[in-house]
Amino acid sequence: MSSAIAAPPDLIAKYEPVIGLEVHVQLATNTKIFCGCATSFGAPPNTNVCPVCLGLPGALPVLNRRAVEMAIKAGLALNCTVNRRSQFARKNYFYPDLPKGYQISQYDLPVAEHGWVEVEVGGVKKRIGITRVHMEDDAGKSIHDGFRDSDKYTYVDLNRSGTPLIEIVTEPDIRSSDEAYAFLTELKQILQYQECSTCDMEKGHLRCDANVSVRLKGAEKFGTKAEVKNVNSFRFVKLALDYEIERQVAVVDGGGRILQETRLFNPDTGETVGMRSKESAHDYRYFPEPDLVPLRISEEWMDEIRQDMPELPQARRARYMADFGLREYDAGVLTATRATSDFFEAVSKAAGDPRAAANWVMGDLMGALKAENKEIAESPVSAQNLGELIALIGKGEISGKLAKEIFAKMLSTGEAPRAIMEREGLKQISDSGALEKIVDQVIASNPKQLEQYRGGKTTVLAFFVGQVMKATRGQANPAAVNELLKAKLG
Ligand code: ADP
Ligand code: ZN
Ligand code: MG
Repeated sequence: MSSAIAAPPDLIAKYEPVIGLEVHVQLATNTKIFCGCATSFGAPPNTNVCPVCLGLPGALPVLNRRAVEMAIKAGLALNCTVNRRSQFARKNYFYPDLPKGYQISQYDLPVAEHGWVEVEVGGVKKRIGITRVHMEDDAGKSIHDGFRDSDKYTYVDLNRSGTPLIEIVTEPDIRSSDEAYAFLTELKQILQYQECSTCDMEKGHLRCDANVSVRLKGAEKFGTKAEVKNVNSFRFVKLALDYEIERQVAVVDGGGRILQETRLFNPDTGETVGMRSKESAHDYRYFPEPDLVPLRISEEWMDEIRQDMPELPQARRARYMADFGLREYDAGVLTATRATSDFFEAVSKAAGDPRAAANWVMGDLMGALKAENKEIAESPVSAQNLGELIALIGKGEISGKLAKEIFAKMLSTGEAPRAIMEREGLKQISDSGALEKIVDQVIASNPKQLEQYRGGKTTVLAFFVGQVMKATRGQANPAAVNELLKAKLG
């Protein structure tokens, strides 16, 4: 990383960073927020457009009910108060990819406000305040790298114009880049669980602006903030914040002044650079959107939405620890995505043993999926089948070792464990009649070891167990073999 602005760690330690995030999230609707055009990603340029999202004069917006539902879900999941009456507002600015000349957003009456998200960093739990959640439409996209040889041309693709977004603004409650990272991770998980958004950063479905200032520890007044715009991965947000904190401490400690400005993060250098100062910031001339009536949300609608909301990841983690006796780390891994968590719960139900289910999902299954670069949704082994496999071990029908063999076959064929077990004759032998015969044979054909055992060298037992397992191709129930051998030898 850059050494030009390095502030030594003991100097940085004298200061406290203050961070607030502004996160734009694309809602997972099929159609746009104010028209019926598709939101699908990757369509040929300017094919998913109509007079409304092209901003043609006289075209009127009609609010998408699903988008409002998702915004309400997000608000509730972020512990916000959902305003029964909110208002859209015009945010006026000119940009080539904004054909209306204004964005339809919300200003003084957002759909939800005053919430919080709990994060945990270094074993300490903390609430980060959510100032507001408001709805707005996205702009189109300018494509600057022309299709011709030169870069003379800029193209505008308006497919994205009118895509529904929510903007989530936090209070300046975050005190380190690690807390910012934890917050974003938790936020993404919550929104994905609610199916409000895919939060796919590569597709721009989640975009983060980070505001940061520093102040001497113990000081009351906040320092002047800089805003780092459009950082496109959580790791980069953390790196951008670390750079910015170090830069600001060096400036402030050297007696300098932080400019209130917008900065850009360069992932290649790990540095942020000034882009424009706040003094030249837009005056958006907000006013209530005249083409849309205020948004009213009835109590019944809220109830309907509440009932449709799944348990949140944090509640699931707590339940896995309390009811299933899982460790915190394991509960975290198993709830990382809703798909993983739902899969685990289905395995657990079919297995009748949550802890064994946790071990198999986190160990064998995730290992196998990772090796093939697959998501849990693409698992060749269904949750039901994995659960049945675990139940077979529990019932003593197969040993753990046999289960691994069967599991490998399940991975390649997708078959149910019992089908594989029966076809390949992989059933565990615990039937004492059948085992007794084999044990007798093994003892009879090893007189020397028998003599040693009876002479007091009881460690030879392991040799006999090994012989029986070999004779049964590993299918004997080890506990039953041990018992039988002890009885016969002694
Ligand atoms: P602006 O008027 O510049 O948009 P806001 O008050 O709306 O500023 O805050 C925007 C974001 O910046 C919020 O997430 C807020 O928590 C954060 N923020 C505000 N003041 C500071 C500060 N002094 N240092 C760091 N973050 C701040
Ligand atoms: Zn349209
Ligand atoms: Mg603001």
